[in-house]
Amino acid sequence: MTQRAFELMLLVTLGSVWGWVFDDSAWTLAGALLGALVWVVWDVLRARRVLDWLDIGDAKHPPATSGVWAQLVDRNRKLIKKLEKKVHASEHRLEDFLSAIQSSPNGVVLLDSHGRIEWSNLTAANQLGFDPHRDIGQYIRNLVRQPEFSHYLKYKDFDHELQIVGPGARAGQSTQISVQIHPYGKKRKLMLTRDVTTVQLAETMRRDFVANVSHEIRTPLTVLSGFVETMQTVPLEDNDRQRYLGLMSDQAQRMQMLVSDLLTLSRLEGSPVPGQGDWMPMNELMSHVLQEAKGLSQAIAQPVHTIEAVGAEGGQVSGSKSELLSAMSNLLSNAVRYTPPGGRIEAGWRLNANGSATFYVSDSGPGIAAEHLPRLTERFYRVDRSRSRETGGTGLGLAIVKHVVQRHGGGFDVQSVVGHGSTFSLTLPTLRVRQREASALRE
Ligand code: ADP
Repeated sequence: MTQRAFELMLLVTLGSVWGWVFDDSAWTLAGALLGALVWVVWDVLRARRVLDWLDIGDAKHPPATSGVWAQLVDRNRKLIKKLEKKVHASEHRLEDFLSAIQSSPNGVVLLDSHGRIEWSNLTAANQLGFDPHRDIGQYIRNLVRQPEFSHYLKYKDFDHELQIVGPGARAGQSTQISVQIHPYGKKRKLMLTRDVTTVQLAETMRRDFVANVSHEIRTPLTVLSGFVETMQTVPLEDNDRQRYLGLMSDQAQRMQMLVSDLLTLSRLEGSPVPGQGDWMPMNELMSHVLQEAKGLSQAIAQPVHTIEAVGAEGGQVSGSKSELLSAMSNLLSNAVRYTPPGGRIEAGWRLNANGSATFYVSDSGPGIAAEHLPRLTERFYRVDRSRSRETGGTGLGLAIVKHVVQRHGGGFDVQSVVGHGSTFSLTLPTLRVRQREASALRE
């Protein structure tokens, strides 16, 4: 302030002196007024420069000025710098926030009060089939044109989520998308989307599984209760009675096998992966399942099958003994059950060049048509339904094999030619195989 007063006084004094030189008191007054006017004009010009600079708000290029204006410029420059820092920090936070939403597996779309897209993450755009940049500002109803969605928007039925069909990554591969809108602020909307295709698939599989199990249990149960009713109402000869009891026992056994396979599957799904530690000789596993298969052949085939152990190399495998035995015996018992009596079956371990080992079973049975091969390990999938039932199959054997193999980090393969037989094999990875001195296979 004092500087401004000093400037004014100086200019007024200079004006007075200039007037006094003209030696008249009127000129002295005029000179003082002129000095004051010059100061006002100068001050207004300085104020204008400061105001122009404030309009731009460029903290890096402040105007060169003096006095109180210089102080004003300096304080504003500091204030602008502080604000700029705050804005940058907010921008960074917003960017972090948006990239977090961007990487979310769920879709997020922000809609303005008219239902136009303000922002969307890539997930939502892919799930609903629009472009997250080009389609900003577009009405969502024009981009998602399904009638259920239009109805959802029109009647503001936002209490529950809606399921619509998404475009899918490839043609002909649609997805199920769950959409829910949450209104917020002034008529704005947050739209959340979720790909529920796999959840739905799992739900369908669960329902199919329950239906299959019920069906599998109902059949023997119906037969069993039919016999019980007959035995309760009809007086039977001792012979018939024994025959009926035999048939009833078969049905009970069938249910027992089904329950046992179901328990095996659920144990396989629920227990931790077998460790590396337990090493077993391949030959020992082999002779165990071979004996079982020979017993089964004697029980169901006349003449019995020729069952031979091949490629009897020494070696050890690691994993769960009970699981590996169960997988190997499932493959061998299938060969026995599906190969006509007198047929030939070969089974054995083979050590592969890369250090892995393969257990394989080849039979001279009916073979399996190519279209069935990809589905063989599905639960309850059967190619030959009647043969499976006749020989006590549960439809779960290969599903169990596949699980065991996966849990051991291995692979499963089927080669088959209709009319010529099949070869089923399971391969254990290098980590689970140890080569030892070859020793003769005990039968
Ligand atoms: P199942 O208890 O019915 O044998 P699996 O899961 O073990 O069930 O096998 C699935 C289906 O694969 C069988 O129903 C059968 O039709 C077919 N299959 C399995 N092994 C053989 C084989 N060695 N030869 C011919 N068909 C087979």
